[in-house]
Amino acid sequence: MLPSFSIVRPTTLDDALAQLADGEARIHGGGTDLLGCLHDGVFSTPTVVSLGKVPGLTGISSAADGGLRIGAMTTISEIVENDDVTARCGSLAQAARVVASPQLRNQGTIAGNLCQKPRCWYYRGDFHCLRKGGEKCFAYDGENQYHCIFGGDLCYIVHPSDTAPALAALGAICRVSGPTSSRSVPVESLHVPPSVDPQRETVLEPDEIITEIVLPPPAAGTRSSYRKVRARASWDFALAGVALALQFDGDVVASARVFLSGAAPIPWRATGVERAITGKTLDGATVAAAAKTVVAGAEPLAENGYKLPLFRGLIADQLEAIRRLG
Ligand SMILES: Cc1cc2nc3c(=O)[nH]c(=O)nc-3n(C[C@H](O)[C@H](O)[C@H](O)COP(=O)(O)OP(=O)(O)OC[C@H]3O[C@@H](n4cnc5c(N)ncnc54)[C@H](O)[C@@H]3O)c2cc1C
Repeated sequence: MLPSFSIVRPTTLDDALAQLADGEARIHGGGTDLLGCLHDGVFSTPTVVSLGKVPGLTGISSAADGGLRIGAMTTISEIVENDDVTARCGSLAQAARVVASPQLRNQGTIAGNLCQKPRCWYYRGDFHCLRKGGEKCFAYDGENQYHCIFGGDLCYIVHPSDTAPALAALGAICRVSGPTSSRSVPVESLHVPPSVDPQRETVLEPDEIITEIVLPPPAAGTRSSYRKVRARASWDFALAGVALALQFDGDVVASARVFLSGAAPIPWRATGVERAITGKTLDGATVAAAAKTVVAGAEPLAENGYKLPLFRGLIADQLEAIRRLG
């Protein structure tokens, strides 16, 4: 049952920030994740602050430098359908297209997608786990087939967002407003690993609001892609996924940014893959070396060892696919 709470609908950003001042209120973007968490008792709040009436938080527009600005309340569907997104940052369009179901994409927003809570069944269920203030992660010795192979430290969730790895690979930045100032947070620095704080998903304070996401203009020769493998094609979270943003100089990879989904508690930067392909053509030997290195250092749990060959195959497939785009 949904517990009782007040819902407020501020009409200015300043008012929205004021409503968050007590540190207990929660932001409502599209509500697809927040209301589920409240309904399931994952956490509670006295006040839900809807951003639906705050002006200036929606829409996709070109920035003067050729980049893109995406308002925080822009829906995932709007991103899927936007021609500029498809043309300039194809991996984001691909990632948005595989988020959840059509209904959820129509309602869910890009900022909400970045800030959504993890999907671990212990965290979402009746378990007082470490992430909820308890003493242990039940997944470590429990049912852990959907949990992490990298970055598990006290808590073994995987980060759930598909757009986060794509945005991180593209070098996107979140513009964040707080009660006294604004700041910019690169998407690749937005999420908090459990080794730093197992009860926190993002670096945002409770009284801060993401107002927009800014994508830099793609460098000449950039190709990007996002692909996830999931158990159900209709809708499902990633078992394994990869976001690539590669800049080519002819056939040679001049620079590479590679982030994994379904791998770790945060979008996981695959620096070994980046090193294996930078300065190289994507021939068979380079692709094989990159596929081998993607799982170097992985620490699978009892039931998720299948992710190792999955990631190796995914990297090999996606590097082949992005090479053929040239
Ligand atoms: C059945 C189901 C399947 C799903 N499958 C996928 C999937 O495959 N891939 C995927 O990526 N996601 C998936 N999701 C998650 C869904 O995409 C997200 O719930 C949605 O994008 C979140 O957007 P929202 O606006 O509804 O977020 P909300 O529910 O409104 O908010 C989510 C969180 O973000 C915070 N928040 C919202 N807006 C802001 C802001 N502007 N600034 C700071 N914090 C903010 C909220 O306080 C809350 O903690 C699924 C969800 C469901 C219910």
